[in-house]
Amino acid sequence: MRYISTRGQGEPLSFSEAVLTGLARDGGLLMPESFPYVASRLRGWAALSYPELAFEIMRLFIDDVPEDDLRAIVNRSYAGFSVPEVTPVRQVGGVHVLELFHGPTFAFKDVALQFLGNLFEYILRREGREMNIVAATSGDTGSAAIAGVQGREGMRIFVMHPKGRVSQVQERQMTTVLSPNVFNLAVEGSFDDCQNMVKALFGNLSMRDRCHLGAVNSINWARVLAQVVYYFYAAFRAQRGMHAVQPSFSVPTGNFGDVFAGYVAFRMGLPMGKLIIATNENDILARYFMSGTYAVEGVQHTISPSMDIQVASNFERYLYCMADGKAQTVKAWMDTFRKTGALTPGVPNDPIMAAGRCDTARTLATIKKYYEQYGYLLDPHTAVGVNVAESYLEDYKPMICLATAHPAKFSEAILRATGHDLAHHPDLDALLDKPTRSVTLPAETAAVGDYIERTIAR
Ligand SMILES: *Cc1c(COP(=O)(O)O)cnc(C)c1O
Repeated sequence: MRYISTRGQGEPLSFSEAVLTGLARDGGLLMPESFPYVASRLRGWAALSYPELAFEIMRLFIDDVPEDDLRAIVNRSYAGFSVPEVTPVRQVGGVHVLELFHGPTFAFKDVALQFLGNLFEYILRREGREMNIVAATSGDTGSAAIAGVQGREGMRIFVMHPKGRVSQVQERQMTTVLSPNVFNLAVEGSFDDCQNMVKALFGNLSMRDRCHLGAVNSINWARVLAQVVYYFYAAFRAQRGMHAVQPSFSVPTGNFGDVFAGYVAFRMGLPMGKLIIATNENDILARYFMSGTYAVEGVQHTISPSMDIQVASNFERYLYCMADGKAQTVKAWMDTFRKTGALTPGVPNDPIMAAGRCDTARTLATIKKYYEQYGYLLDPHTAVGVNVAESYLEDYKPMICLATAHPAKFSEAILRATGHDLAHHPDLDALLDKPTRSVTLPAETAAVGDYIERTIAR
């Protein structure tokens, strides 16, 4: 399988090259040349364990890592999850909850980033290369990326987070990691500032080459690929016996990486009812799917901070699919968007896509309801997805709601919703007593670039 940019420039890349490249050199995102169609294999895959299924799906996209090596990378990546199913599915009230938070940092991002850390190490070692990873985080990516690469050879990681705008637990999960290859940058700005600076650093091609920059944000195709797996896995768990069903999925959405992985699963032939994009007050995507206009507004800070994103980087991958792979069209759209802050590709003629918005009051009410009626704690991100899913339940069942974080990561929101301080985990509570390390920097690409160059030179 070869990988090409959504903006059409440059030669096609191998999988390993695509993983190390992260963002395409023309500023676009890398996409596989085609989606393998697997409808005829679903029956045979239904009983596979999580790592077995991950191997079967991934190898369709990866032809430059020998199968035994890929199998070992996959097995190692999921051995550190706290439950043998890796991503269990539980029936809670009228919905199925797909628990994606059993990895080392308690958020779904571990599913992809544990894999990516092992993959980086394997490819860098094979090619005798090194890499300096630059990442932006609204909270969960940073800790999951750090957990994926801390202490590994051949790589450093620089993680920018918006100073004071991630939860205390999230901040401590990052800044208490004192490995010499981990650098936390507290940026005086928003998550979008951080994400823009990552793009700007990658856009500076001479620095990019000089510093061997690498990406772990969901602009990296390997992350999306790892997330495709659990859509299949959950669909098999929601079916009754061997009777396949057509599940719907509700996905708490920020950067559009997770829901795009669901779209890839659909294009590969996984039957689906609806694929629902659930947003908080930062509803640019929900507005787009309802109106056909994608227009930036200011960021609002909510109790689901990992979704406080305006410009969803993976949306470009969806636009590329909508444009039927015409990179010129995507490039023109993105140019307009950069100049005007809006683009109007029209409402997609895509019957599976749906969208909805859930504000803070409804998020809190949903947490309270699921706790009181079913004794189950939803974290605020998951609650957004569950709330939006409820409006589709009449017509679409089974409904699989992606649970993207462990509630203990957001214990303040749980307290506010239920009136009880219920959500704790000993590993997270223990972070409060540990020493931390970070540097504060202004939201200026030059300052961040300079810090990175000086650190590498040391
Ligand atoms: C990152 C994250 C999201 C959003 O996922 P995207 O792939 O960016 O759309 C939702 N919930 C939690 C808890 C997250 O960490």
